[in-house]
Amino acid sequence: MRGALGGPRVLLRRLREVMAEPVSAQERLDKIVVLIAANMVAEVCSVYVLRVDGTLELYATEGLNRDAVHQTVIDADEGLVGLVAREATPINLSDAQTHPAFSFRPETGEETYHSFLGVPILRAGNTLGVPVVQNRAHRTYSEEEMEALQTTAMVLAEMIASGELSALARPGAEPAVRSQLHLKGLGLSDGIALGHVVLHEPRVVITNFIADDVQKEVARLDSAVETLRSDLDDMLTRGDVADGGEHREVLETFRMFAYDRGWLHRMREAVMTGLTAEASVERVQSDTRARMVRQTDPYLRERLHDLDDLANRLMRQLVGQDHAPAKENLPENAILVARTMGPAALLDYDRSRLRGLILEEGAPTSHVTIVARALGIAAVGQLENVVSMVDQGDAIIVEGSTGDVHIRPAIDIERAYAEKVRFRARRQAQYRALREKPCITRDGAEITLLLNAGLFVDLPHINETGAAGIGLFRTELQFMVAAAFPRTSEQLKLYKDVLNAAGDRPVTFRTLDIGGDKVLPYMRMVEEENPALGWRAIRLGLDRPGLLRSQIRALLRAASGRRLKLMFPMVSTIDEYDSAKELVEFELTHLRKHNHTLPERIEIGAMVEVPALLFQLDELFSRVDFLSVGSNDLVQFLYAADRGNSLVADRFDPLSVPVLRALRDIIDKGREHGKPVTLCGEMGATPLGALALVALGYRNLSVSPSALGPVKAMLLETNAGEVGQLVRGLLSKSAPRVSVREQLAAYAAAEGLQI
Ligand code: PEP
Ligand code: MG
Repeated sequence: MRGALGGPRVLLRRLREVMAEPVSAQERLDKIVVLIAANMVAEVCSVYVLRVDGTLELYATEGLNRDAVHQTVIDADEGLVGLVAREATPINLSDAQTHPAFSFRPETGEETYHSFLGVPILRAGNTLGVPVVQNRAHRTYSEEEMEALQTTAMVLAEMIASGELSALARPGAEPAVRSQLHLKGLGLSDGIALGHVVLHEPRVVITNFIADDVQKEVARLDSAVETLRSDLDDMLTRGDVADGGEHREVLETFRMFAYDRGWLHRMREAVMTGLTAEASVERVQSDTRARMVRQTDPYLRERLHDLDDLANRLMRQLVGQDHAPAKENLPENAILVARTMGPAALLDYDRSRLRGLILEEGAPTSHVTIVARALGIAAVGQLENVVSMVDQGDAIIVEGSTGDVHIRPAIDIERAYAEKVRFRARRQAQYRALREKPCITRDGAEITLLLNAGLFVDLPHINETGAAGIGLFRTELQFMVAAAFPRTSEQLKLYKDVLNAAGDRPVTFRTLDIGGDKVLPYMRMVEEENPALGWRAIRLGLDRPGLLRSQIRALLRAASGRRLKLMFPMVSTIDEYDSAKELVEFELTHLRKHNHTLPERIEIGAMVEVPALLFQLDELFSRVDFLSVGSNDLVQFLYAADRGNSLVADRFDPLSVPVLRALRDIIDKGREHGKPVTLCGEMGATPLGALALVALGYRNLSVSPSALGPVKAMLLETNAGEVGQLVRGLLSKSAPRVSVREQLAAYAAAEGLQI
């Protein structure tokens, strides 16, 4: 069997010349097919391009009837070409006509050819087209020839992705890479955003595909792999695996892949065909991605993701591109797209330009979601594979309330959304009109609506929404956005600013709640198997009292001469509460000794997030001035379902009977003890959740700024006593449904409540 004429390297060199020629896209394609046919001694070489309508169009051919170019269009499930595209794998047959999928188009004149080699044109795991070579003789194409055709496919992928071929297409039949896509994920943060994609971890852009000197490229690849391996070894042996937020398990898997002989071998082989080292990494990565897209087993897909991440690292090493995206140079209306992201990473971006967030993972009460809500940006999660479907700068629309995402939308979709934005603005204006109105239900129940906040940027929301105060000030956010521990003076300044912005409205400060997924980049955290159940919040505060005391001191000083409400997160036992309170007493004594003016009034409370507290309510209420229910954590712990894990976060309903019974017991005990109870989790921020809470007797809800208007509008129309009877009735049934959501929604619909 004859190999490729002149070998793959000659082919690549010639391809490079063709790519550099100042000719039209069609001429370039025509030259490429001639070149491949000659190089592989094939009688036919054709290129099919996948179109937005899912069909494959013949774009160029050497050997088949040229009149068929741009005329022959085959369905994605038709023939061998369709099979290559669908399966995203090469097909190499010496007698194609005996293959069950074989079919032919008479206009092309291909019925006389027996051997067939087709490979997918892949980009980010998606098939963009198929180049094919054919011969009359029964011939099996060699491995080397297959490699050469795959390499050509890479060059074609760039031509398609650059938009060069779009000029050859009829309207509505453009190459699929620029196609519009409509995806549906899970709405995480309300709002509509029209903008442009910013990839949180941008793909490395390769400009040089073809090697000048193959030996040099082999050496570059080897040395980059060597560096990658020793970096990973270092990270693991140094023990500070928390560096960069990566966990040990991930690093270990990375290291395993980095030492995988097969992986290196495949990349070396690609280099030997004449590709640059970085292009070879991409070639192999492309195959990984194709497998990833088609993989249904979540574990295996996760491993392929790891391999994909590793290839990215290697490519960055080779082309010297910085890992970090241009966080400060965001375009206007930036929409971040990421596989997953922590809250601190999101806060790193320039908030004045950020409009939306799209995540492959993400869950409704994960902290990155909460931060997105606090920043008022629309967010959608659980969009599998979205990172590989977009390119930096693509136009994109995110609708946070429904989970809809439109990638490269058509002009009419864009117009429709722009109209929706205007409509929402009008509705916001209606909510603003309710600003001054007291929140009293139809039957006279007074509800105090407070805000959740945590950053300086949140402060204007107090006046904009007409909130009665701040029910939860998450102090850790200031720590998460800082490059180093904020000094006491910086904390003092922020707390004063918050109190000033609130004026005579109360503010409840929560002491530092770090740990779990709230990682401080500059603080070495211990490695934990289950961080959410680990050394976090008040546990960390009591074990390292220096940090908590300096924060308490800053809070006491900021509130000098005024009212201070402060509460402790993640309290599990009465002792913990007592110890934390002692620290406050200690600081008060200290300030008194130094003649500082103390707060005029101090109220101290605890958050109810750990289920153990449900069985210590009497003792707790007799000690505290108030309690605040953190339903995000309470639900996570009641159901043992990680709030940040998209596989389980949504599995259990906060409106389910067990949760509502727990919430009922808390509010009933609060009433018995005459102590106020607030709820500050995300549950209160949806109109239906707020309705359930008011039904149970909650009269203080703390919600995100964008939720206040809709919740208030709903409550003004509500009869609290009536819905209370309904919900309490449902909870006391002996064989209740698991969730009251349906019945409550039906009630709201019958009452004309906007939920
Ligand atoms: C909660 O757990 O409900 C809560 C309000 O705290 P965070 O979301 O900050 O954990
Ligand atoms: Mg919490």
